[in-house]
Amino acid sequence: MKTKYLHFNERDLDTAGRLIRKGELVAFPTETVYGLGANALDLQAVSKTYAAKGRPSDNPLIVHIYDKSQIYDIAEQISDDARKVIDDVMPAPITIVLPKRAVISDTITAGLPTVAIRMPLSEEARQFLRAAGVPVTAPSANISGRPSPTNWQRVKEDMDGKISAVMCGEPCRVGIESTVLDLSDEPRILRPGAVSAEYLSRLLGKQVYVLNDPTSKVNSPGIRYRHYAPKVPMVLEQNDDVEKLCRYFDEKTAEGYHPVLWVHEPLRFGGRNAVEMGLDDGDVANKMFETMRKLETQYDFIIASFCRRSPCYDGPAGQGVEDRLIRACGHTFI
Ligand code: AMP
Ligand code: MG
Repeated sequence: MKTKYLHFNERDLDTAGRLIRKGELVAFPTETVYGLGANALDLQAVSKTYAAKGRPSDNPLIVHIYDKSQIYDIAEQISDDARKVIDDVMPAPITIVLPKRAVISDTITAGLPTVAIRMPLSEEARQFLRAAGVPVTAPSANISGRPSPTNWQRVKEDMDGKISAVMCGEPCRVGIESTVLDLSDEPRILRPGAVSAEYLSRLLGKQVYVLNDPTSKVNSPGIRYRHYAPKVPMVLEQNDDVEKLCRYFDEKTAEGYHPVLWVHEPLRFGGRNAVEMGLDDGDVANKMFETMRKLETQYDFIIASFCRRSPCYDGPAGQGVEDRLIRACGHTFI
């Protein structure tokens, strides 16, 4: 299949909308990562998503909307907490999970009685969704297991020839996937992202916990597998122990590897190959997946360091960044 590369003008948006309504796959930018869109009301279209990504079909898809009124068409039993999040937080890098209506098929929710809904903040994303005119399922537009794409060139790398079109928009501002907030029962976070647990706890006037903490050893889906992973081995250090990191780097070099340290303040590593992770939590999130995809082409071993005491953790995206790094290294800590 020849993939079309479309732009944000009226004619191309019209083409993209038509492709979605015809049951084709179209990738598009959001503020978090690029999504792989399909018409949520067309099961054949939705099924193509799993094939294009090589994604296990027991992993449910998020339904994207451009107008809050669409929520009431696809979900029901909307609690007071849910209403508050819908009214005061959305659109934002957040996904809410609510009891689903029958119009949303089990293929989308992997058999769950709930549906995940997201209204992106990105103007480009909403233009695309408006052009589609239907709710759109969209996982990240990467081959399953790989780092999510945060610009259209990375979508091309993974999806060229496999999908009908890519909307070539801006690079993503947030850089990690949305916070997933379950509102079908007591509010709890299923995946940390840029909208933090602290913020949601304050908003709802109750403690909102993060479930499925990647540092715990619970055997839940998603932590059994390496996810968001670069092609080369990666390990994670969590105490900002410069001496230990240097020693590990030297050992790997002696073993014949060409390693890189991916750290806060690279100048502390005595001239060893070291790349800055970012200045604060938002900056780290913004660059994280793109840096993984660059490092894997230049080095053959990634030694990452991310410490809860550093300014990179202290902020709304810190917990989300830590979650992605732990999954990317497949729980291999040093
Ligand atoms: P992504 O790979 O970014 O498309 O993420 C989709 C993720 O959203 C899934 O892996 C789940 O963690 C979450 N999700 C989607 N639908 C549901 C649902 N109905 N209930 C709980 N989590 C969901
Ligand atoms: Mg994904």
